[in-house]
Amino acid sequence: MNLTAENHSIPLSDGNQIPLLGFGTYGDPRTTPKGTARECVKLAIDVGYRHFDGALVYFNEREVGQAIREKIADGTVRREDIFYCGKLWNTFHPPQLVRPALERTLKNLKLDYVDLYIVELPMAFKPGRDFYPTDENGKYIYHPTDLCATWEVECHPYFTQPKLLEFCHQHDIVVVGYCPIGSSRDSSWVNLKSPPLLEDELLVKIARKYNKSTAQVALRFNVQRGVVVIPKSFNPERIKHNFQIFDFALTEEEITAIEALNKNVRFVELKMWSDHPEYPFHDDY
Ligand code: NDP
Repeated sequence: MNLTAENHSIPLSDGNQIPLLGFGTYGDPRTTPKGTARECVKLAIDVGYRHFDGALVYFNEREVGQAIREKIADGTVRREDIFYCGKLWNTFHPPQLVRPALERTLKNLKLDYVDLYIVELPMAFKPGRDFYPTDENGKYIYHPTDLCATWEVECHPYFTQPKLLEFCHQHDIVVVGYCPIGSSRDSSWVNLKSPPLLEDELLVKIARKYNKSTAQVALRFNVQRGVVVIPKSFNPERIKHNFQIFDFALTEEEITAIEALNKNVRFVELKMWSDHPEYPFHDDY
């Protein structure tokens, strides 16, 4: 597969295409200044990103949609050049709430359609205004909706997902890996006992060889094996930097060596919801 900055899409089983390198748009709403997502998504489009990973629960869909529309209006891209992934939050799992949730996302974005709409997490919460419903003791209130779809998969050199990738490959399913450079290490949802990926010795060594960073090597590793990555950055230099992965290629030996780094370490364990009957991370996949 010849991956270039202009063309690094792979086919989905329905005939559509998904760019292997996407842009993660989640930034902590408590600490991210207003307008940051808008400016960063516009810069990302200028840099060449065409795939955007968003969600209702990121509380910045309006800004992300505005950025996309502004870059369409100024002629940089057309709507059909952009691949936008939206997500159904846990409080909208009952079938009758799915469509209204999607319509809310489209209204926020002010776009006519999203290219992909996925179940954010397979764990239903009690529907209602509150996105994180709790009872009077502070315990999360779950909901027994049937799980009917799949969810995104964490994937990086410390969690290479061989079994899942083999299954998906056999069934013609494209995998999107979140936390591809080791996550934001935000203590409210990331396991801080996990080793910092970007300091890994092997990644450092390979990065030196190609005059690249460990982040670029970690991203290249996944796109080269056909796994879509959605690194997040709200820093202009790093937004550009994370796109510079199409001017070098890892050898087969290097891919194999990075695969051997697998430690089955999840950065996102979501242990606070581990008593949910559908908690997904007890399983092997
Ligand atoms: P990432 O692995 O993308 O890491 C993002 C962190 O790395 C940020 O703190 C960012 O800071 C920093 N960073 C970015 N580029 C570099 C670089 N070149 N060198 C060093 N540090 C860098 O983790 P995320 O958890 O953000 O995952 C990516 C995206 O995946 C999210 O934004 C979201 O869209 C999606 N996601 C979905 C989940 C789900 O459950 N469905 C769960 C988690 C994520 P800075 O911004 O300052 O550059």
